[in-house]
Amino acid sequence: MIIGAGVAGLWLMRRLAAQGRSVVVLESRKIGCGQTVASQGIIHGGTKYALTNRLTGASESIREMPARWSAALRGEGEIDLSGARVLADHQYLWSQRSLPSRMTTFFAASVMQTRVRALDRAHHPTLLAHEGFSGSVYRVEEMVLDAPSLLAELAAAPGAAVLRIDESQLKLESAAGHDSGDGVTVHFSDGAGRRAALRAGAVVCTAGAGNGALLAQSGSKPQAMQRRPLHMVLVRGPLEHRIYGHCLEAGSRPRLTISSHDWDGQAERRVWYLGGELAEQGVRRSRIEQIEWARREIASLLPWVDPARLEWDAFLIDRVEGAQAKRARPDEPVIVESPAALFAWPTKLAFAPLLADRLIARVNERVARTAAGELESLAHWPRPEVAQPPWKEQRQWHTFER
Ligand SMILES: Cc1cc2nc3c(=O)[nH]c(=O)nc-3n(C[C@H](O)[C@H](O)[C@H](O)COP(=O)(O)OP(=O)(O)OC[C@H]3O[C@@H](n4cnc5c(N)ncnc54)[C@H](O)[C@@H]3O)c2cc1C
Repeated sequence: MIIGAGVAGLWLMRRLAAQGRSVVVLESRKIGCGQTVASQGIIHGGTKYALTNRLTGASESIREMPARWSAALRGEGEIDLSGARVLADHQYLWSQRSLPSRMTTFFAASVMQTRVRALDRAHHPTLLAHEGFSGSVYRVEEMVLDAPSLLAELAAAPGAAVLRIDESQLKLESAAGHDSGDGVTVHFSDGAGRRAALRAGAVVCTAGAGNGALLAQSGSKPQAMQRRPLHMVLVRGPLEHRIYGHCLEAGSRPRLTISSHDWDGQAERRVWYLGGELAEQGVRRSRIEQIEWARREIASLLPWVDPARLEWDAFLIDRVEGAQAKRARPDEPVIVESPAALFAWPTKLAFAPLLADRLIARVNERVARTAAGELESLAHWPRPEVAQPPWKEQRQWHTFER
């Protein structure tokens, strides 16, 4: 039993189903509606650790992730994601000035050479081929995915059961604890009067922010989870260029991260989704202050972008992670165990395959047998929809007087 249908729960569901396990995912809202559908879709391969020169043992595990995603996206991997949309098979790092030598030395190191390459002007992406740009550009072999199509593809496995539930009526009951082999009884309802109780060999909670309440319910400490807020910005309108990547400065974190999203094929409504330091530092700003700040950032970093007819919005959203000492950023996925359930946070979209490996090892310790027959009664249970990305939600788009 998996609770929470974001990337972490759905990747795990697909892996377990491929191994012949009976697996059910319970979702209280829409598929991926927490962080996954709001993510920028970047499948990190560790390049950003170059910015801090921090290619530690732990962070090295992220280097293997892009190859696993690529195989899945080609339909040749551990799961078949060949129907998910790849927005870009590479992205860019750029800087208005020369990058600090510690970064360029690191990019040139053998460990990074296959993934980061300095570009001469003729090969700059069109946005950065403008005569007004005189900085440096690197091409990074890290892809960017369309999160809604990824979620739809993950959830679409034949035989997979992703069920919509009312979270206020979800209860985990582990009378004897997992050591007894009796499993955990999960009580749930569709919110419209239909109830079910399933005995699961193992329960895995991948409910993102929802893991807090589930931890408390199972008698574990909700402090096992931490939130790090972001103030993300959306800008839409007749944006001529698509761009995926990070604008760097001397600091260790990207000043601005941009992903680009076409809106139902309408060029007039292309969206740039803005994160990076803008979003991290922006949590102290009001929505309007954040929009004004973002507009000044674009005007300063990409002054040739025509601001006419652009519309803006900003919103707060938490990254949710396993708690770390001094609220540090985890380098890897985090799993917390209790007798009733395993609680997991991938830390990054990119880490979903590694998190699934580690969860499967723990699930196998708990589950002695499967209970396939029980699932048939759920065939007509309501199914959740896939969540909409933030730019398609109802928003208050803000325009500036010219
Ligand atoms: C703005 C933003 C941008 C990001 N960009 C990137 C990026 O570019 N690259 C990257 O690698 N990572 C990125 N991340 C991080 C990444 O998105 C997350 O690490 C990842 O999506 C978390 O997935 P998850 O499945 O754990 O949680 P979520 O995606 O939050 O899914 C949890 C699911 O559980 C459901 N749920 C909650 N409570 C309950 C309950 N009680 N019962 C049933 N269901 C419940 C929710 O409705 C939701 O569908 C970004 C994060 C944010 C916030």
